Amino acid sequence: MATGFLFHELYMWHDTGRAALWHPAGLTVEPDMNAENADTKRRFRNLLDVAGLLDHLVTINARSATLDEILRVHTPAYVDRIKAMSDAHGGDAGEVTPFGPGGYEIALLAAGGTMATLDAVVTGEVNNAYALVRPPGHHAEPDRGRGYCIFGNVAVAVRHAQAVHGLKRIAVVDWDVHHGNGTQKVFYDDASVLTISIHQDNWYPADSGHIHETGSGKGAGFNINVPLPPGSGREPYIATFERVVAPALRAFKPELIVVASGFDGGIYDPLGRMMVTSTTYRRLTRVLLDVADEVCGGRLVLSHEGGYSAAYVPYCGLAVMEELSGRKTNIGDPFAVYIDVAGGHQMYPHQEAVIAKAEALARKLT
Ligand code: ZN
Repeated sequence: MATGFLFHELYMWHDTGRAALWHPAGLTVEPDMNAENADTKRRFRNLLDVAGLLDHLVTINARSATLDEILRVHTPAYVDRIKAMSDAHGGDAGEVTPFGPGGYEIALLAAGGTMATLDAVVTGEVNNAYALVRPPGHHAEPDRGRGYCIFGNVAVAVRHAQAVHGLKRIAVVDWDVHHGNGTQKVFYDDASVLTISIHQDNWYPADSGHIHETGSGKGAGFNINVPLPPGSGREPYIATFERVVAPALRAFKPELIVVASGFDGGIYDPLGRMMVTSTTYRRLTRVLLDVADEVCGGRLVLSHEGGYSAAYVPYCGLAVMEELSGRKTNIGDPFAVYIDVAGGHQMYPHQEAVIAKAEALARKLT
């Protein structure tokens, strides 16, 4: 069994500038480091290195997406606009998506990296793989950047899988704490791509990711949103994966599962209000691996999205990589002893109510 891993130093050079959390700095907002910065991701990779796991992963090399590949998802006018800004002094791709000079090329490298990772899995070079890319992609819409995302890395990779590998059925599972609005938008009318997003109810983008958004036209029924109430921890997350995600995937029978992997559902995240711990991310990964084994020969591709606790994201990432590779390291989550026993991990009625509704959506796929 082989697990692939992709990283490129230029991902760390993507410059989101100064801000307060995500808010632009100004005369009433003192500048701080933008919440979306290189630290979280660099420390994730560093921990894999220190844990000795990196040596056992198959290195996948990043490449740039071509213009034609990006245009499968994005409009020419939008791509031109990003390139022009990037060639000048940088700018904002739309809504809360700042980038510096060269941001265009780095965004192409993030989309291309996700494609290269997908290629490695689809061709059988590895069984499963993780693309630690930056900037993230799941908020990007065809004609505008949103929420730190310039190009839809996962959406571009899925279109690539259809065009080049001829895959007919692909599923995207998005466990980032924010709604995968961009991915949803790209495939909303498309029955060949099942999109499932598990996120914090009405968080970002605002008024997005509701449970009644289920797809349209031929794609009706092939978009499932699970907007979990803030404060959801171990039991509601595991129940969502066991009762909604796994049955939906079994019914849809994708040839490939792609995960939009944000760790901002983590208990210490500054941009989310959920209680997921590394122990739970490990369990969710196990659920996905088991379903992938059943339906698509274990073919699972993960592409990095959000996650803003520099201290905690690395332990969530390590847990996921250990589970993917089947190789336990000597490094445990030093926070687990406190947070796994914290109050609030059980299922509450208001969480159960949402999951039950989503469960009914998954059942309709059978
Ligand atoms: Zn997020």
